[in-house]
Amino acid sequence: MTIIACTIDAIEPLTPTVNRVLLTPTTPISYQSGQYLQLCLTAEDKRPFSIASHAGSKQIELHIGASVADNFSSQALAHLQQLFAAKQPVLAEIGLGEAQLRTDSDRPLILLAGGTGFSYIYSIAQTLAKQQVNRPVFAYWGLRDQDALYHHPQMQQWASSNEHFTFIPVIQNPTTNWQGRTGLVHQAVLDDFASLAGYDIYIAGPFAMAGVVRDAFVEHGAERENMFCDAFAYI
Ligand SMILES: Cc1cc2nc3c(=O)[nH]c(=O)nc-3n(C[C@H](O)[C@H](O)[C@H](O)COP(=O)(O)OP(=O)(O)OC[C@H]3O[C@@H](n4cnc5c(N)ncnc54)[C@H](O)[C@@H]3O)c2cc1C
Repeated sequence: MTIIACTIDAIEPLTPTVNRVLLTPTTPISYQSGQYLQLCLTAEDKRPFSIASHAGSKQIELHIGASVADNFSSQALAHLQQLFAAKQPVLAEIGLGEAQLRTDSDRPLILLAGGTGFSYIYSIAQTLAKQQVNRPVFAYWGLRDQDALYHHPQMQQWASSNEHFTFIPVIQNPTTNWQGRTGLVHQAVLDDFASLAGYDIYIAGPFAMAGVVRDAFVEHGAERENMFCDAFAYI
């Protein structure tokens, strides 16, 4: 895989714990919706991040967790901030993974994200919206707290402008003013579908979630070959 230098265009907070990073590769590069890149902190230390922008976008958007407890992403963010301040490019391997959107399928889709796994389903949702697909799409996004929601208006707007698109945020620890779904995000899917047979299912989120989802969804009728999740390779 080729390493590409990318200009860092912006680093801006989406929430107190998630930052949006905009990169422009200095060499044109293609990638598919649902793929990820690896930021090269050093030649050996490479960290994967889902590409939030849709295939064809020249600028790459990333959503990077900034929680001090999460060294994986906060160290990558610190690396980017250092380079940004010095006006230096970051090195990245772009267009990785096996969990990209399958455009040759006509099966209905379930997109399942936990936390910053939203980046992955946001890329896929944008491509589906651009293609104006008439396959039913059910996008579920699980968050610990409702103040961690971002890009919510875009997702709601797609859902209200496309009768085939349903967006369901699920809050694990809601406050009393939260009107929507609560609990663990995969449980919301299990509650909503009598069987997951016949669906293409795209999954991103914490590794612990990926393992739980894989087992629970297969138990609930999902076909393993129609479940796409790059975290499966890490667990
Ligand atoms: C290919 C790849 C791409 C990655 N892309 C990114 C990226 O774009 N940005 C980034 O910051 N990191 C990324 N990572 C790193 C890692 O996946 C994230 O750090 C992780 O998803 C962060 O989750 P969170 O803390 O936001 O979710 P949390 O806040 O921990 O959880 C969010 C929700 O997920 C569900 N959930 C969590 N744990 C469980 C569980 N044990 N059982 C059931 N449900 C659970 C719940 O509904 C919960 O509310 C990537 C890793 C890989 C391998």
